[in-house]
Amino acid sequence: MQFQTSNQFIRNDQKVHIYSKALLSNLASLKNLCRPETKFCAVIKANGYGHGIREIVEILKKGQVDFFAVANVYEAAFIADVVGQAKILILEPIHTAYSSDAVQLCAKKGFHCAVVDIEALQFVQDCLANSSDVLNVHIKVETGMGRCGVDAEKAAELIKKTRSFPNLRLAGVYTHFSTAAEKDLIFAEQQLEKFKKFLSGQSLLACKDIIIHAANSAAMLNMPQAHFDMVRCGIAMFGWAEHRDILNVKLTPAMKFEAPIVQINHYKKGQTVGYGRTFTAWRDTIGAIVPVGYADNYWRLYSNNAVMKIGDNFAQVIGRVSMDKTIIDVTDIPDVKIGRYVTIIDNDPQSLCSVYKLAEMADTICHEVLTSLPSRALRIIH
Ligand SMILES: *Cc1c(COP(=O)(O)O)cnc(C)c1O
Repeated sequence: MQFQTSNQFIRNDQKVHIYSKALLSNLASLKNLCRPETKFCAVIKANGYGHGIREIVEILKKGQVDFFAVANVYEAAFIADVVGQAKILILEPIHTAYSSDAVQLCAKKGFHCAVVDIEALQFVQDCLANSSDVLNVHIKVETGMGRCGVDAEKAAELIKKTRSFPNLRLAGVYTHFSTAAEKDLIFAEQQLEKFKKFLSGQSLLACKDIIIHAANSAAMLNMPQAHFDMVRCGIAMFGWAEHRDILNVKLTPAMKFEAPIVQINHYKKGQTVGYGRTFTAWRDTIGAIVPVGYADNYWRLYSNNAVMKIGDNFAQVIGRVSMDKTIIDVTDIPDVKIGRYVTIIDNDPQSLCSVYKLAEMADTICHEVLTSLPSRALRIIH
């Protein structure tokens, strides 16, 4: 199967710092919350939550990761040569519109693949029929998420079929919670009960070679009874969690995003700044231009709202964020000069420009702030 790769340029002046120690210590702390035999699946879809997927794999390999989970076959193929001993789980179910090349690649490379319907299962078997390759299949059971997955009855049929096909191996059975990150876990508990009922009905809990899994970061932290054979952990590994106030583990953010000041402006009191004149200098103001804008997913709603950090000081965004530029008020900040680096996303969870704060401001979750990191920024691994 041929995959296209792009030759996107990298901007050396936009720096995404990745802290290996933080990632590895989060990994160790999270693993510590699990039973020693519980497998750890590091979820690294969406370019490793924006950090850089191959870079993240290279780092996490030094810890103990049993699986890397990605969203699709493209990501799987992109990291296949760097995962070492770890296996790759593809979360997006195989469907009948897959090319048979892609199915064959999955089998050849030993990827573990989700399947959620009979037609797809038959299609996969047909694609592999002329080979001795065996595909590792994970059946995803729908218990309340209402996204990908099959209800219990169909799942039972899928399991039976998988076992009857010569080129397929039943490698896993899983589900996914819709509310594990909410304060109220009642629905998640109901999902868990449904899943457990299914597993015992199928006598799956006793099968040593079938990996049962359900927990994402939130469930891993809040529902230890849902760990089963493996946890699938994304956001927490990168140092962020949705319920930071009730965290039973210390997490260290693993990324900081910076860019340099490229111009300094002196605005007279009363002068306006940026498109739409949404900011008027209420005093004589020194503004610094940072070459990051909404094209870098520094969202326009941060206009007159977010802050950036220079040394230990915070500088307010003034005026509208534009496509490639944002202006900050540096009037009271010492040692401001062209070339000095400004922190746009901070790795300090208490910071006013932490991922928490930026997510809150944009009415979203940490996942979306992280996956919005510009891919053209330089990654620096520490
Ligand atoms: C993305 C994803 C995860 C990881 O979620 P986090 O909240 O980042 O831990 C786990 N399981 C599935 C099926 C996912 O799609």
